[in-house]
Amino acid sequence: MLAELHLHLFGCIRPLDLLRQLVVRGQVRWDLYESGMKAAYGTIPPVRQVVERYRQGDATAAAEFENLYVFGDQDAGNFDRFQAKGNLMALSLALNDPDAGPAEIAAEMAKIVTGIRADHIRHGISYAEHRVLFGVDLDTPRNRAVLDTVLDAYHHGDAGPTERLAISLNRTNPWPGWELVQEIARGPHGDVLTGIDFCNIEEGHPPKDAAAIFHAVQDFNAAHPQRSLAILYHVGESFRDKSLESAVRWVQEAAEFGAHRLGHAIALGVDPHLYGAHSREEPVSEHRDQIAYDLHHCSGLRAAGVAVDSVALRTELADLAALPDGASVTIDYDAARLDEVRRRQTYAMGRICSTGAVIEVCPTSNRRIGGIVDPAHHPVRRFVAAGLPVVVSSDDPGNFGISLGDELDWVCEHTGGGAELRQELIRAAWDSRSEVLSGRLSR
Ligand SMILES: [Zn+2]
Repeated sequence: MLAELHLHLFGCIRPLDLLRQLVVRGQVRWDLYESGMKAAYGTIPPVRQVVERYRQGDATAAAEFENLYVFGDQDAGNFDRFQAKGNLMALSLALNDPDAGPAEIAAEMAKIVTGIRADHIRHGISYAEHRVLFGVDLDTPRNRAVLDTVLDAYHHGDAGPTERLAISLNRTNPWPGWELVQEIARGPHGDVLTGIDFCNIEEGHPPKDAAAIFHAVQDFNAAHPQRSLAILYHVGESFRDKSLESAVRWVQEAAEFGAHRLGHAIALGVDPHLYGAHSREEPVSEHRDQIAYDLHHCSGLRAAGVAVDSVALRTELADLAALPDGASVTIDYDAARLDEVRRRQTYAMGRICSTGAVIEVCPTSNRRIGGIVDPAHHPVRRFVAAGLPVVVSSDDPGNFGISLGDELDWVCEHTGGGAELRQELIRAAWDSRSEVLSGRLSR
């Protein structure tokens, strides 16, 4: 009974299905794909020619296409590159073609869902949750065509795998999307809509900004226990704009505000020494929040071995008040400060443990997008050692050319957990389904 809990719907499309889609659609915006590849890689791969050869019946083109499309280890550590390769899929969708109407979009979605279900059967997945992201304005006829098709397919699913959907809300303005989510959740297909998600760029979107929408979901769940929704939240995956301390704090805050599952949470458990001695900047507003956190949690942090000088922090806070909001603060990391970040992580892990939030670990994604190449640095080792609830998933198995089995193998091998851990992780995923965590179902 394998359960895949962290999947992006369109990231599940396998290369061969994408290739067939490209051939059927014909007018792909190759210029957009190729300019993106040129910017990210410096060269343009011969994908257009390979697709044309496949169209003309050259069966050998399929393997070549797969090689060119899959985002592999050799592409590692760069989100721009991931996006550039993934653009090919986005550009192949009728959804993104202004000339395609809702009927064409719906027909294509039905095919995509059928392909993904078949893929799950091939990989022994009996339960899967997909997230799907649209723009701020979710409620358009084109988006409805996608949603209605997917919800209908999941609702009437045959004896195959159970599929569930979480709608990803816009981080800047989640409210229009939340209106639509509630309408669907209360409606005839509400049984298969089991969560909301927050994904895409996290920089600039502190968890405190999501507190109000989390409250709204909690109120909705109290009023509609049979249609309650899990809150899924990508956090601590990318943190280029802030201190390591703030990045750890964000993960803790997301859990304490009520997220049921945390996507990636790399910042919480990555070995800080991965980054070596370096400097980082963060906005003054973020630094103030970090000081407030340190003052609020000073006894717990001190117990974890973090030196918190309350008097000095209050003085710093007063000094920061003189700086304009747009200013930033530079933080220098040496070995001692990196060690201290590690102790902060340990403290935050303890706090998160008591919230019951589950961490979703996607090893290949972390390696290829997150740049965590050496398994010794990977956060899952610390999560498992700390006894945090962890589930393993594959994020975008189509883009990465992987399966859930590969991801489980990687975790069990690199944590030394072996077959016993594998069984635990499989059981944890089953127990961490959105409909269980939100209270719709008992285990
Ligand atoms: Zn994700």
